[in-house]
Amino acid sequence: MPELPEVETIRRDLAAPLLGRRIERVRVHEEDLILGGTSRRSFQRAVRGRRFGGLERRAKFLLFPLLADDGATGPERLLRVQLRMTGQFALDEERPRAPDFRHPGVDFGLDDGRTLFYDDVRRLGGFDLLTPERWTAIERRLGPEPLSRGFTDGRFGRILAPLRAPIKNALLDQRRIAGVGNIYASEALFRAHIDPRAPAGTLDPAQVARLRRAIRTTLAAALERAGTTIRDYRAVNGRSGSYQSELDVYGREGAPCRRCEGPIIRLVQAGRSTFFCEDCQGAR
Ligand SMILES: [Zn+2]
Repeated sequence: MPELPEVETIRRDLAAPLLGRRIERVRVHEEDLILGGTSRRSFQRAVRGRRFGGLERRAKFLLFPLLADDGATGPERLLRVQLRMTGQFALDEERPRAPDFRHPGVDFGLDDGRTLFYDDVRRLGGFDLLTPERWTAIERRLGPEPLSRGFTDGRFGRILAPLRAPIKNALLDQRRIAGVGNIYASEALFRAHIDPRAPAGTLDPAQVARLRRAIRTTLAAALERAGTTIRDYRAVNGRSGSYQSELDVYGREGAPCRRCEGPIIRLVQAGRSTFFCEDCQGAR
């Protein structure tokens, strides 16, 4: 599932080419991809004739502000995209021939002759039309953005202090910290030498500071490499990320730890795999 670096890569790929473009045609091939109980017809009516404002990302959501045709006022609607497992975008004059684009989802025909294609093989992702007020209410329940200036040691410490859940699970909870998922949680904990099983509230200030730094460093490095492509994730037009070759622990069960050469261990926490090195992260 795409995490912060993957979603941000897609935002960066699409932001400049979509800015100010008018949506001339909307074709919904798969009604399942329109979320929130909106019908195909009312979705098309709400989107057609609008212009794209500046694309944003919050947590693992992509946000496409839809402006009135004259672009004079702020966004009337926000088109929120959830990529989930297999959601992919392409921006081109013709539907890409890549095998990933054999499952048409939603097409947005633009005023420059190109089409923004969204395909989703497993149809788990999709589009939500939100009023700015509704988005504000959703946004308020999300934790801080880990790459933002507001994500300080003090704030992170206050978030973790009351939590009894294992730190790995706390990192996956979007209400605590936004945008971190299973891959980068394991990677950041390894980088910070912290046991993924440790109750979040028991981390001392030095560990909190180390973990905050490790989260930022890991996410920034992955963003630099356009994210991690293990199975399904692609940036726009089928481009793969390349951070998978940099992973220290994720997906490396049984392989030697890059630091101590001990075996990387996999365990299951809250139904999700955690990868770690007992020697480097076990002793607290
Ligand atoms: Zn190790």
